[in-house]
Amino acid sequence: MTDSDDRPPSATDIDDTPTVSCERCGQEWDLAYELDDLGVGNQALEQFALDHQRHTGHFPDGIATWRVACRNCPETVERLSEDAARRWAETHARHTRHRLELRHASGDETTVIEEDG
Ligand SMILES: [Zn+2]
Ligand SMILES: [Zn+2]
Repeated sequence: MTDSDDRPPSATDIDDTPTVSCERCGQEWDLAYELDDLGVGNQALEQFALDHQRHTGHFPDGIATWRVACRNCPETVERLSEDAARRWAETHARHTRHRLELRHASGDETTVIEEDG
């Protein structure tokens, strides 16, 4: 019934604990326990971001994603890897013959993706 994510937001005051916040959810999490579990910082963050996206449909703040926006319809997606974003765009282009724009959140460069030929 409720989509409860029962990870408690812990209130430790350790400065070097990586934290993630989400403006849309109005929440903040620290990833200390994930780092302990996985032993890899960046991957823990990515894993958290993916989980959050799966639960809520959006990524937390500060996650630089690859974004695909279709020029012909309202479809947009965000992916952590360029490959995944590009693959989605190419599939969409092939099925719909739409043109899409691929852009990284931290960059200005836009790649246009359209069906070959
Ligand atoms: Zn959120
Ligand atoms: Zn489209």
